[in-house]
Parts: sequence; C-alpha cells; structure tokens
Amino acid sequence: MLHKYFNRSEFACKCGCGFDVVDAELLQFLVAVREHFNAPVTINSACRCESHNRRVGGSTGSLHKSGRAADIVVAGVEPADVVHFLDNVMSPGGLGEYSTFTHVDSRSGAARWCGE
Ligand SMILES: [Zn+2]
Repeated sequence: MLHKYFNRSEFACKCGCGFDVVDAELLQFLVAVREHFNAPVTINSACRCESHNRRVGGSTGSLHKSGRAADIVVAGVEPADVVHFLDNVMSPGGLGEYSTFTHVDSRSGAARWCGE
C-alpha cells in the first residue's frame, strides 16, 4: 500500500511492464486534491515506459516516463476547478487543463497549458 487514498497499482504503466515508480511530490499533489474536494481521484495515466509513452502519443520528454506526472479525474469536479485549486494552493511544476482530465507533474519550473 502506497497511501491510504492511492495504491501503487493505480500508477503502474498500462502496458503491464511493471514500471510503477511514484514521485513523492506528485503524490502530495494528488493527496491534496483528494482531501480538498473530498472526492475519489481516478488516475487515468501515471507511469509510462518508453514504448507505452510512444504508443499513446506522449511527448518525448514526458514526465510520465519518470513517474512524475499523472492525468487525473476527480469525481464530480470539472478539470478547470482542479487546475484552479492546484495552481493556487500547491503550485505544481506542470499543470495542463484538458476537457475531461487534468495533467499534473512535479517538474522544476512552471508550465501551464490547455489541451483538447
Ligand atoms: Zn510499460
């Protein structure tokens, strides 16, 4: 067990390769979201090995490849609201707002973007 809210298996690469490293700072962001909204957080995609990242069209320098990024959905909460909370309270390195999910990562420096 990784944390009371999250199992390590939820972070594992979807290809079945077993890559399931979870960055401690990333986990803090997800726990903060879970507690602030008091709602389940689904991790659509966290760890990705090189080949899986390529298969899903991830960028070459994707933080998903080092276990430092997660695409999340918070039950009953719009991605815009998740972004707003994270940006103002946790100030993560990377924050991407998409129509159906939120990307958050623990890069150093700040990147903010909107996707499809
Ligand atoms: Zn994999």
